[in-house]
Amino acid sequence: MTNNPDKNGFYGQFGGAYVPEILYKCVTDLQEAYLPIIESKLFQQEYSALLKDYVGRPTPLYYARRMSEKYGCRLYLKREDLNHTGAHKINNTIGQVLLARKMGKTRIIAETGAGQHGVATATVCALMDMECEIFMGKTDVERQHTNVERMRMLGAEVHPVTTGNMTLSDATSEAIRDWCCHPQDTFYIVGSTMGPHPYPDIVAKMQSIISKELKWQLMEKTGRDYPDCLIACVGGGSNAAGTIYHYIADERVNIYLAEAGGHGVESGYTAATMHCGTEGIIHGARTLVMQTDDGQIKEAFTISAGLDYPGIGPLHAQLAQSGRTKVLAVNDDEAILAGYELTRMEGIIPAIESAHAIAALKKIPFRKDEVVVLTVSGRGDKDLKTYLDHRDMAGEYGHFQTDAY
Ligand SMILES: *Cc1c(COP(=O)(O)O)cnc(C)c1O
Repeated sequence: MTNNPDKNGFYGQFGGAYVPEILYKCVTDLQEAYLPIIESKLFQQEYSALLKDYVGRPTPLYYARRMSEKYGCRLYLKREDLNHTGAHKINNTIGQVLLARKMGKTRIIAETGAGQHGVATATVCALMDMECEIFMGKTDVERQHTNVERMRMLGAEVHPVTTGNMTLSDATSEAIRDWCCHPQDTFYIVGSTMGPHPYPDIVAKMQSIISKELKWQLMEKTGRDYPDCLIACVGGGSNAAGTIYHYIADERVNIYLAEAGGHGVESGYTAATMHCGTEGIIHGARTLVMQTDDGQIKEAFTISAGLDYPGIGPLHAQLAQSGRTKVLAVNDDEAILAGYELTRMEGIIPAIESAHAIAALKKIPFRKDEVVVLTVSGRGDKDLKTYLDHRDMAGEYGHFQTDAY
């Protein structure tokens, strides 16, 4: 089991680069350029310096005492929520914008769903003085308004996309269309481990800083450099890929990934691609896709805008199919409850995406005192309204001390 794709970008039968003729040169140029650049000493120096001084890395590995007692394990939280801009996304955008500059590109485009990747992209474009245009479904523009305002303040142009369901999948299609029109000067910063080769590999490598830090942080805290169990949520799969990257070949480590069940995997209202998907092609890669019998992409449903994607990165499709990772579907109500639980027990309000990983704790049989690392991919400030609107799902935590004010 390996974290690297073959030379054509395949992880087993998944991956590859299925792109229109007009992008062929762009994609092959990138395939040839990316490894020599990101493995160069100069790139690594610039990237590490920005991660440290700008993003605020290393992120803490925090021992969650109360949650550990509750679940009968030793639970450590990897705090990606403490990164600049509030999630893991910036690990990737910093790396890709440096790559774009080294390739002589001057214009950046990106897709975004909840707006987290859009904000992280607009942020690094402000930092590097690059032109920035973001594609975002009109539905998401309306429901994630604060992030739209952040992107605009950062100097980016936000294009509301009105095709299809007007969400992430449509924004991605539109970004690819724009790239087709401006292949010369434009670099497309993909936000997750998806898209045509080499994007899944680029994004996984940029996020692999998470497990690189885990190795020495675990050594410091537990006396060995690996956990018994890793847990992360998956949308396209980038925070999960980063969390597991340096442990994929280490069979001592159990890996559990939480995907968004929505109303339930049987309900038809779900984003649980690895439970419900079948093999197909989406946004340039062969992977598992939620699709109708005649190959039309189905709409994904989940309370979490960041997990709202009908596909999954090819690395994860392969790891799940081979049994290396165990994929759990977590429904909306379970995620909301878990978000409240972490808030009340540890004083950390997680992103609703990350709350899906927290909810997985209830579904995993732990041995006493096993070392568990769970990645908190982002902070929940953006989700306050959703949490408050769904207090009825929060059980004992849904009753607040002060209700009238
Ligand atoms: C975007 C996002 C996700 C989902 O994306 P992945 O590529 O699967 O990591 C998860 N958590 C947060 C906080 C996000 O912003």
